[in-house]
Amino acid sequence: MKNKKLLIIGAGLSGLYSAVLLQDSYDVTVVEARDRTGGRIMGMDGHDMGPSWVWPHQKNILQLIERLELEVFSQYTEGLALYDAPDGVQRFTPSTAPSYRIKGGISQLVDALEKRLKKSANLNEKVLSLTQTNEMIVVKTTAKTYEVDKVISTLPPRLAVESIAYVPGLPEALHTQLQNTPTWMGYSAKCVIEYPHAFWREEGLSGFGVSHVGPLGEIHDACTTDKAALFGFLHSYAKYDNLEEAVIQQLIQLHGQNAANPSKIYFVDWKKETYTSTALDAMPLREHPSYGFDVTHFDGKLIFSGTESAFREGGYLEGAITAAMRSASNLL
Ligand SMILES: Cc1cc2nc3c(=O)[nH]c(=O)nc-3n(C[C@H](O)[C@H](O)[C@H](O)COP(=O)(O)OP(=O)(O)OC[C@H]3O[C@@H](n4cnc5c(N)ncnc54)[C@H](O)[C@@H]3O)c2cc1C
Repeated sequence: MKNKKLLIIGAGLSGLYSAVLLQDSYDVTVVEARDRTGGRIMGMDGHDMGPSWVWPHQKNILQLIERLELEVFSQYTEGLALYDAPDGVQRFTPSTAPSYRIKGGISQLVDALEKRLKKSANLNEKVLSLTQTNEMIVVKTTAKTYEVDKVISTLPPRLAVESIAYVPGLPEALHTQLQNTPTWMGYSAKCVIEYPHAFWREEGLSGFGVSHVGPLGEIHDACTTDKAALFGFLHSYAKYDNLEEAVIQQLIQLHGQNAANPSKIYFVDWKKETYTSTALDAMPLREHPSYGFDVTHFDGKLIFSGTESAFREGGYLEGAITAAMRSASNLL
């Protein structure tokens, strides 16, 4: 019997893993608006510009990493941390929870899942509208029109309501629920500063730093197997004119002249990523939202998924994986 057709919107972690789980039972097409896969997972020259960490309690993502034969290593936390206060720099011993990174960068996860796909994702193809007809869902994209039996949307919920038209429209309560669900890390901006060598480690520092001065608010060691680097999240009030200069000055203030000559600086402002964040996401969140929803439209034929739909670890990579597992079990 011919398999039913399933279209998955988005080739982030959730979309790719959903495709891997469902491709033996459905004729799966993954449609991705960007010119790359990974969504919020983004690597630049081996540096993680989106997520970096998984934590020991996140069993599903850790099991997946193991099944994909990827290696993890512990986040470097040895030594003292720095507090960048207006009246000077202080050293302190932080209490840090263990976390892991993936050798070669977290993009390895995306590459490994893509290798397991029978059919590659269609890139540069944005979904514009979804229309329910008697039997099928008509999916209109910037490239073509598909007729499919089922759709999984893995878009951040706000994007799902703001960037796609639904016929018939979403019930008001569902529209409001999705609109009120913030995109995790949608407000963030991440900067990676690469150096010829990890001078902070040589001085007994972990690389971890906290600052109320900025422009970086939180700084961590981000060394890869072959490159020395620090990374920082920008304060929401950081100005972007001469950002590189301001970041270097801050790191000189923390580490002295050793920090004066980075080999390269990488920067991604996730607020400006139109396939991740909406205008509502620009405001920083005070705390991790309470995520989780189990909602469908078109008589259950359209499933809203993605990390923000996960009841446990929503927002994180673990949430993206568990959301994919739930969508898959719903459709199998
Ligand atoms: C800076 C940063 C740091 C983070 N740090 C961590 C961390 O350390 N640990 C952790 O666990 N999590 C972290 N996260 C969160 C983690 O990245 C997400 O949980 C995960 O990547 C979400 O995957 P997803 O597939 O659910 O969504 P996404 O990755 O957002 O995937 C959605 C996909 O849909 C595509 N799309 C959008 N609109 C359309 C359209 N109209 N048509 C077709 N395709 C479309 C997008 O391009 C994207 O590829 C971080 C995120 C950021 C941004």
